[in-house]
Amino acid sequence: MRMILLGPPGAGKGTQAVRITKDFGIPAISTGDIFRTNIKEGTELGVKAKGYMDKGDLVPDSLVIDLVRDRLSWDDAKDGFILDGFPRTVAQAEALQGILKDLGTKLDIVVSIVVPDEELVRRIAGRRVCRACGAPYHVDSLKPKVDGVCDICGGELYQRADDNEETVRNRIAVYEESTLPLVEFYTEAGLLTEIDGTIGIDKVEGLIAKALDK
Ligand code: AMP
Repeated sequence: MRMILLGPPGAGKGTQAVRITKDFGIPAISTGDIFRTNIKEGTELGVKAKGYMDKGDLVPDSLVIDLVRDRLSWDDAKDGFILDGFPRTVAQAEALQGILKDLGTKLDIVVSIVVPDEELVRRIAGRRVCRACGAPYHVDSLKPKVDGVCDICGGELYQRADDNEETVRNRIAVYEESTLPLVEFYTEAGLLTEIDGTIGIDKVEGLIAKALDK
């Protein structure tokens, strides 16, 4: 199963990606996570990406596309993958078509998770993420069993540098301008399923599972 999770920051893509990975045994590939790892390790890619990410702007397509081309060629993505946070522009979506064609495969489904802006800001301000495995939490609605500690791997929970209100508003604006056109792009391709992201994590997961069954 080859799928894209589409949605603004805070829609719950990461949360759902973790669950689908468990259910289907396919890797969740988050370009944001890959950039954050590169920043932590001080690689050339990380240094290039950091300035854009801190402001909530998009990293240039040329940097992202090569990274995804490489990641999708790994063995673990042979039988399927979930893309979380890629593509974010029409140019990236077109590049993805080429990458998949070269790999002799194609997308099965694009799930777009829809959440109103004010709810996104509330969610992101309270978001915490595991430094080790990337699992997402929330200070009110998705608390870990032990404060500050990841339920899954025991890693330390932290707040992302770009999860502050000012940057979030820019990230939402960037989503609406650059990424929302992908809803039309994938509707025309007959691949899009829209899901209401405000109905609760378990119900969203249920609707995604139903869409995948079809
Ligand atoms: P995310 O973890 O998906 O919210 O991504 C965090 C940040 O990484 C974004 O605000 C962008 O600066 C950058 N980023 C992640 N994925 C992409 C992408 N596909 N294209 C451009 N920038 C990206």
